[in-house]
Amino acid sequence: MRNDCLFCAIVDGDIPSNKVYEDELCLAFYDIEPQAPVHFLVVPKEHICCARKITGENSALVAHIFEVIAKVCEDLGCESYRIVNNCGDQAGQTVKHLHFHVLSGRDMTWPPG
Ligand code: AMP
Ligand code: ZN
Repeated sequence: MRNDCLFCAIVDGDIPSNKVYEDELCLAFYDIEPQAPVHFLVVPKEHICCARKITGENSALVAHIFEVIAKVCEDLGCESYRIVNNCGDQAGQTVKHLHFHVLSGRDMTWPPG
C-alpha cells in the first residue's frame, strides 16, 4: 500500500525530507512540526501501517529501528529522549505508516496528554 502514503513517498524520495540517517531498512528524518528541540521520525522502508501489524515476520525491523535510534541519539549527543509510537486514530496517529518519534532537548511530562 505505497499509493497515497506520505512516508512511502518520503522513502522513495518523491517528497523531500531532512534526513538524519538512512540504511537499506529504514529512514530517519526530522519532523516538519517539531515538538521538542530535537524531534525526528524513524520509519521502516517497507510499508507497515501501524504497530498493530508488527508480527514475528517483521519484528526484526523494529529491533533494528531501536538500534538505529540509539546510534543516532549518540551521534546527536542526546542522552535523554522519549520514543513515541502513536497507533490508531484515538492515540493520534495521523500518518498510517509505522513510525517512531524521537523527542529530546526539553523536560517531558508524564503521563502524556
Ligand atoms: P503521527 O501523528 O504520530 O502519525 O505523526 C506524524 C508526524 O509526521 C507528525 O509529527 C507530523 O508533524 C509529521 N510530518 C507530517 N508531514 C511531514 C513531512 N513532510 N516531513 C516530516 N514530518 C512530517
Ligand atoms: Zn507507507
